[in-house]
Amino acid sequence: MFTSDVLVIGSGIAGLSFALKVASFARVTLVTKKARVDSATNLAQGGIAAVLSSEDSLEAHIGDTLRSGDGLCNEEIVRMVVTEGPERVRELMEFGVRFQKGKGGAGLDLGMEGGHSCRRVAHAMDLTGREIERALLSQVERHQGIEVLENHLAIDLLLESKASHRQRNGYDRCLGAYVLNTRSGEVETRTARLTVLCTGGCGKVYLYTTNPDIATGDGVAMAYRAGARVANLEFVQFHPTCFYNPQAKNFLISEAVRGEGGILVDRDGRPFMKQYDPRGDLATRDAVARGIDAEMKESGADCVYLDITHRPAEFIRERFPTIYATCKRFGVDITMEPIPVVPAAHYMCGGVQVDAWGKSSIACLLALGETACTGLHGANRLASNSLLEAVVFAHRGASWCRENWSELKKQPFLPIEDWRVGKACSIEENVLISHNWDQIRRLMWNYVGIVRREKRLKLVQRRLRPILEEIREHFHDYLLTADLVELRNIAVVAELIIRCASSRKESRGLHYMVDYPGHDDARFKRDTVLTRFEA
Ligand SMILES: Cc1cc2nc3c(=O)[nH]c(=O)nc-3n(C[C@H](O)[C@H](O)[C@H](O)COP(=O)(O)OP(=O)(O)OC[C@H]3O[C@@H](n4cnc5c(N)ncnc54)[C@H](O)[C@@H]3O)c2cc1C
Repeated sequence: MFTSDVLVIGSGIAGLSFALKVASFARVTLVTKKARVDSATNLAQGGIAAVLSSEDSLEAHIGDTLRSGDGLCNEEIVRMVVTEGPERVRELMEFGVRFQKGKGGAGLDLGMEGGHSCRRVAHAMDLTGREIERALLSQVERHQGIEVLENHLAIDLLLESKASHRQRNGYDRCLGAYVLNTRSGEVETRTARLTVLCTGGCGKVYLYTTNPDIATGDGVAMAYRAGARVANLEFVQFHPTCFYNPQAKNFLISEAVRGEGGILVDRDGRPFMKQYDPRGDLATRDAVARGIDAEMKESGADCVYLDITHRPAEFIRERFPTIYATCKRFGVDITMEPIPVVPAAHYMCGGVQVDAWGKSSIACLLALGETACTGLHGANRLASNSLLEAVVFAHRGASWCRENWSELKKQPFLPIEDWRVGKACSIEENVLISHNWDQIRRLMWNYVGIVRREKRLKLVQRRLRPILEEIREHFHDYLLTADLVELRNIAVVAELIIRCASSRKESRGLHYMVDYPGHDDARFKRDTVLTRFEA
């Protein structure tokens, strides 16, 4: 059994920021399932939104966030995040993040993005996430109080009810996690006074996604299995513009390209977005993704195109160096020809339900970053608000931890049974796992995608059931591998997305139901909350 004061699971912006803030008073172990840089954070391009310019205002950012959230944001949380945002961005700069300098406010070049009424996105050209990850990691690596363990995959949370063999009727306390060392194959029992889920999103539940391979919804699945409340999982954001090329895996064409004048056109070069939304190419992501989906369905084309060739070639190369270089590598010179694009699963607005301090419904379990559902995004996230949410909540979670540390420190480390291997044997045919992975991702793409229908949701529930049963029945028959653990998690998250989507019989934000095209405020202006106890 390994013990630490705080067990942080995940090394993206949420996990690293939180670890840095608590390491001055607590011993932190940070586990991450692959290499430390493998995270969505490392891929973020556009930037982080905050009110930094004198031409901008907190009210404007609050208004844009609420409008995007389509009636489901928690206004108090929105106000708090937007108000604390500028301070957190300045703090990132103190941690060594080098945002692009300029005359936009705070000495920075501020970008414009869809859904924002003002230039307010601090960026490091189109490599913002990589710059943030670099700076935070270098601080973490220098810190004596933080132990970072790569190739350590959290499997399940440890619970007081299990340790004491007592039914808790909903109340429980988290005591750490079982963690698979993917190099040695051993399952470690890691206990902690406080456990913090910073495991990112779940884009891999869908066939097409902009997310990295780590995004398998592990935090949501673990928390749900442990009995925590999860919420709003029907609100999956599809990024409208993922590079369409069979050889390029998950490459995103940032929102900022439209922000800087990029126009969506069909194969004949005809702009089409105004047909679907009066805001045209700068409409929010959901509207643009639906516009592209409708356009592709109508024309039968495999993709549409994003055209920025009317801007000077030098500006394009300077502002979007990575997008320029990557597209060029695949034979598209974006200064001279439009970029082929398709929508892809991008961001999960829902997650483990938390309060204003990042606390979940299970004691001593926090959830931060994309894994959490804080109330900021409501039914649709405003571009560049997720990095912001992660740093604000990491700060608040750490503040709560500091204030309550004397109490938390008194918690005894209870003896926990080791993971039972029993008669488990090694999987000889990996095809058993890869087949189910593929089936789930295709089902979700085809049945629970950008535009939903009640009939399709009923069908997918039926089709998913035998796969879920097979996984539940056989999970403990095999020695654990990362693929098996993640398969169980994407299956759980897929089921939760479907249950949330089926229960919301209206269209709102990212959840578009053909059968119920309008809002139904009387019944559905509320979060969709699920727990294992109500399954
Ligand atoms: C291509 C792309 C571009 C984006 N651009 C922007 C942008 O411009 N602005 C913006 O605000 N947002 C953007 N986003 C969204 C944003 O990047 C993410 O929401 C944010 O980085 C999430 O941070 P996080 O710390 O919560 O999770 P992540 O950065 O995804 O980190 C999750 C960590 O958890 C680890 N992990 C997961 N499961 C386990 C487990 N079981 N055990 C151990 N470790 C585990 C992972 O290995 C990883 O280290 C973008 C997302 C993508 C994919």
